[in-house]
Amino acid sequence: MVVVMKKGATPEQINAVNQRLLAAGFNVHLSEGVNRTILGAVGDRQRLEACSLEALPGVENVVAILKPFKMASREFKVTNTVVKVGNACFGDGSMPVIAGPCAVEGRELFLETALEVKARGASLLRGGAFKPRTSPYSFQGLGEEGLKIMAEARDITGLPIVTEVMDQKSVSLVADYVDIIQVGARNMQNFFLLKEVGKINKPVLLKRGLAATIEEWLMAAEYILDSGNEQVILCERGIRTFETYTRNTLDLSAVPLVKQLSHLPVIVDPSHGTGKRELITPMSLAAVACGCDGLIIEVHTNPAEAWSDGPQSLIPDDFGLLMEQVRAVKMALSADRRED
Ligand code: PEP
Ligand code: MN
Repeated sequence: MVVVMKKGATPEQINAVNQRLLAAGFNVHLSEGVNRTILGAVGDRQRLEACSLEALPGVENVVAILKPFKMASREFKVTNTVVKVGNACFGDGSMPVIAGPCAVEGRELFLETALEVKARGASLLRGGAFKPRTSPYSFQGLGEEGLKIMAEARDITGLPIVTEVMDQKSVSLVADYVDIIQVGARNMQNFFLLKEVGKINKPVLLKRGLAATIEEWLMAAEYILDSGNEQVILCERGIRTFETYTRNTLDLSAVPLVKQLSHLPVIVDPSHGTGKRELITPMSLAAVACGCDGLIIEVHTNPAEAWSDGPQSLIPDDFGLLMEQVRAVKMALSADRRED
């Protein structure tokens, strides 16, 4: 439910509504717009009538949120959520790019790759320490050793680090090392894991499930928000379709759509989204053009020898070219806006 305050409602009036909602057990989020203030509230609808909110001074109206996702919805919070990690901001109109190998394969290689992507403009480092592999015989990641290597790379480069957590019991371990916790596509509906990452005070990168609808994806985000963590970044990474020339079908229409439905930042992963190195740059540029809040790109110094996802990894020089083109598209978009 959303309580819309009248234009010019006083801070005391807003506070009185807030207090009444809190007293009735609602979870409240305040959005202060230029003209009016909106209070998003989630809780027991039965208790709403007893609150008699409409009778309070300064209240314009009370509107139910009809969508199944409440806290994730635009109605609940009108302004964009900005997730800040170190110097990078997701959702403020900048374009942070997360780059690095699919998996941390060893110390030297990871540190070298980290320096290469930093030199070319990456804002954060990625790397998998716990890998969700289709085959139990494939490389499963270095585990905590991989997290230590990533933390060292952060110390050297100053870039925040992002890695996937695969199960509930590893959440606190992973959270101790990294700056953003990733919930992978295969775990998007692992509700116990979502609740667990909802309890930590670190941003969560929530990937879209392989066969998840946009509503299911936003409901997964709702679990994290409802558990107390408001720092959620959504990631479109392609969905399974009948097409076989690409690994997944990157659903770029999801980006502007989700940004209409939700206040949460949305980034795009064209590596997993296509599975093909030669498609990463064109899809990145398209993602920027359609309003994404960042990119996550797999980069490997020697993709032919990569232990996982080599075919969808860029070499550092090609990543540098991508970054230049991303900047050009960004500039073209802001020039467009200036002419409006
Ligand atoms: C990854 O980013 O390493 C990964 C496994 O991605 P996804 O969960 O999107 O497949
Ligand atoms: Mn990968």
